[in-house]
Amino acid sequence: MFKRMRLKILIILALSLTLFSSIVVFIAGLSIRDLSIQKAQEDAHIAFFAIRLQKEDFYEHANDNALKEYLNEFLKYYQVDNIWLSNKDNTNPYIQSVFKNKKESMEIIENIREFIIYTHIPYIENDEVVGVVSIAVNAIQERHQWLHIMLWVLVCVVIFIFLKAWILKRIFEPYLLFYRSLYKVMLDIEKGNFEQHINTNLQDEVHDIASWINRANKKIDLIIKGIESKISLLMDYQKERYDHSPFIRIQEAINELVDIYQFKQKLENCENLENIEQLVIGLFNQLDLPDVIIVEMVDFKERIIYPDDPLAFRRYMHTITTNNLESLKNAPTEQSEMELKNEFIPISIDNKNGLFVVFCISSNIHWHFLFALKEYRRISKRIIPLLSNYFDIIRTTLQSRYLFDLLRENSQKDPLTKLNNRGFLEEFSKNVTFQAKHISIDYAILMVDIDFFKRVNDNYGHNIGDYVLCELARVFKQEIRKSDLAVRYGGEEFLVLLLSCEQEGAIAVGTKIKECFEHIVFESDLGDTFSCTLSIGVSLFPHDANSVSLAIKYADIALYQAKNRGRNQIICFSQDMLPKDFNPSKI
Ligand code: GH3
Ligand code: MG
Ligand code: MG
Repeated sequence: MFKRMRLKILIILALSLTLFSSIVVFIAGLSIRDLSIQKAQEDAHIAFFAIRLQKEDFYEHANDNALKEYLNEFLKYYQVDNIWLSNKDNTNPYIQSVFKNKKESMEIIENIREFIIYTHIPYIENDEVVGVVSIAVNAIQERHQWLHIMLWVLVCVVIFIFLKAWILKRIFEPYLLFYRSLYKVMLDIEKGNFEQHINTNLQDEVHDIASWINRANKKIDLIIKGIESKISLLMDYQKERYDHSPFIRIQEAINELVDIYQFKQKLENCENLENIEQLVIGLFNQLDLPDVIIVEMVDFKERIIYPDDPLAFRRYMHTITTNNLESLKNAPTEQSEMELKNEFIPISIDNKNGLFVVFCISSNIHWHFLFALKEYRRISKRIIPLLSNYFDIIRTTLQSRYLFDLLRENSQKDPLTKLNNRGFLEEFSKNVTFQAKHISIDYAILMVDIDFFKRVNDNYGHNIGDYVLCELARVFKQEIRKSDLAVRYGGEEFLVLLLSCEQEGAIAVGTKIKECFEHIVFESDLGDTFSCTLSIGVSLFPHDANSVSLAIKYADIALYQAKNRGRNQIICFSQDMLPKDFNPSKI
């Protein structure tokens, strides 16, 4: 740009100088020509008067050879080139005009080779033009001189132009360099690059301007880099994802950070896994991906989180199969818990481009996300790092949530039979007793004990004993409804709570459990076979007791009765079974 500008300036300068000097030379040339003509006329007049003075009657001898010789001789001494005389017969219009106007006339013949000025002077006698004396002066020499001068002037002008251009260059070059550097720096600033500096050797105000801009640039560059390094501490900050202008880029990243921070706050307020799942579903809606399929994988067991549609799971399985993702889905992650990463795999989902995302929460817990993208290239570039940032935030919360649920489950579940344990029962009884005060709620409680179980352990070993316990748990699950509850109360004692069940119903269920268990034939390691019987005590809540824990105690008393009466039977609680000193308030 500056080159073009400089060239323009030089051309304009050269043209204007050439035009100016040409005009000057042209005017000078015209003046010199006029002077030549004037001088030729003067020479003609001098010659004319000299002739007249020396030979007053020369016209009378106009045709004499003697006069011609005289005139020729005369030419040698005066600066004229030819003299001749004409009478009225001469047809030359200039000569004719002299006869007519009685005034001298001038005729100029001007071409490349000659520049002759003819002065036709009237010879007057008695106020009559009797003849015309024509005097020719050849001014070609003057013209040559004049051309020489013009040439010299032109040479001087050209030298002057070059000299001026050189001087201008010397003076303006540093300024041009400054402007060029300034232009480049400004272009870089426009692109968001504040790292460039303006270079100048100038020491005047321009130097100050360059220093100010350089200092401001350096400061802005440092501030931007500082902010960006801080942002990258908080999130996966990939500059290419944002606008090229650093201010807009930082603004976009901060907006994203604020969104993530707000999301984190909501996440921390989630009371359970379900709330977190809802929040993640909301996030995908917010990211304009409402058609996402979210599946939870815990120890290779799948559970669909979203959407609540049986077809969605089929679509998930179909996509996994058509994209050959089974190995990835079922492979345990080899990443350490410390550096869990997510995987983003391009897939085809319902013939559209999409992404399969494996969000690793821990080595055995993953969430899978499947979604199609309208403009795969553009959106995936934005979505992948954005989701990574959100996942990094969600991961720790989910890890602790899963851990908490696991702990809670373990603390409330018996690891051998997978039935709820006594800890759970205590919490449950409190809740039921409380609810029963407000709504009508009743349970039949069965206290179940395996008869002579110690012998099983003694005779066949603990492993077989454990197997018998597990089988009894299986019988419970098989024989009771979903609303009922089986609990491992201790050792080989179990409690079954039957919701909304009268005494007869309780006995019927108890009998079914008892008979089913009795019919199981166990086999020892040595091949011996055996079966076990059950003793069951039954109480009713709130019919027998006003709290579940008291009702449990009564079922235990009834069981004690069953054992005493010979085992392998079901006994219902009655108040007369209570010892005389029994104090229910102590339970
Ligand atoms: P009763 O008919 O009077 O109930 O006699 P019992 O032998 O069944 O009763 P006792 O209370 O004397 O013995 C219970 C046995 O249950 C003692 C203990 O070794 C066994 N037991 C408790 N918990 C477990 C367990 O988790 N696994 C195994 N294999 N045995 C257990
Ligand atoms: Mg027993
Ligand atoms: Mg027992």
